[in-house]
Amino acid sequence: MTYRGRFAPSPTGPLHFGSLVSALASWLDARAHRGAWLVRIEDIDGPRTVPGAAESILSTLERFGMIPDEPPVWQSRRMPRYQQALEQLKSTGLIYPCGCTRKEIADSLLHVRARNTTLAYPGTCRAGLHGKPARAWRLRVPDGDAAVIAFLDRWQGPQTQNLATEVGDFVLRRADDQWAYQLAVVIDDADDDITHIVRGADLMDSTARQIYLQHCLGAPTPHYCHVPVVTNERGEKLSKQNGATALDGDHPLDALNAAARHLGLDLTTIGSTPAETLEGFYAAAAAAWASRMGISE
Ligand code: GLU
Repeated sequence: MTYRGRFAPSPTGPLHFGSLVSALASWLDARAHRGAWLVRIEDIDGPRTVPGAAESILSTLERFGMIPDEPPVWQSRRMPRYQQALEQLKSTGLIYPCGCTRKEIADSLLHVRARNTTLAYPGTCRAGLHGKPARAWRLRVPDGDAAVIAFLDRWQGPQTQNLATEVGDFVLRRADDQWAYQLAVVIDDADDDITHIVRGADLMDSTARQIYLQHCLGAPTPHYCHVPVVTNERGEKLSKQNGATALDGDHPLDALNAAARHLGLDLTTIGSTPAETLEGFYAAAAAAWASRMGISE
């Protein structure tokens, strides 16, 4: 196997400590496997993309010594490819147009919420739009046993999700004319021949959807590893929206050591003194990661 990993930031702001942890984990995994490490800028969500944030993320990664092995991929340049995938799915009848508004979906789930069940799209438009205009495109998920997607997460262990009861038919093309993250990420991981995905555990909930979509498109399923996310004192995932500050590019080793500690990597057993160079840090951290993840030389 030729290992290919990636870091796929959404450019909603500069790199912060939470995103550094994901970048570092994916970088160390690629390094421990002696594989390639790619960066993909996930800038298809127009309203959330901040001008200049992608360039800022790329230059911070470089200052931190994480240099991708290939030129970064920009999702905003790949729209025709997503359209082609949507057409492929249309021709197989796996997707259908949906005319529901958020409010209609919420209203139709009111009785379900009272029973304290997980909310899944109830499939209102499966059998047709009933005269409503098409707003989004949804992928039909299977019923019965086929709806259960199981996978082994390299960090979190065995996982299962029932797509029918926990998710429902999910959106690939959004009502606001944007490509859904689920479609773009699956197409790009497949086209980039990504074999290993290492990312924050907040994306665990999306993984079953992505695996199902891979099956629908005939794409291979990569190995998954979801690392613990960094939270603030209120227990919320650190993000630009809740006050995460940009990293200090002048002191990469401080932030990198803190990120390694967050990942539970004990660097003191490898070298008796803390690394003074980025290269020294990465060598020690990759060895600690390899031992933590059971990766042999
Ligand atoms: N762009 C996503 C984010 O920044 C990550 C996507 C992924 O790693 O699959 O949260």
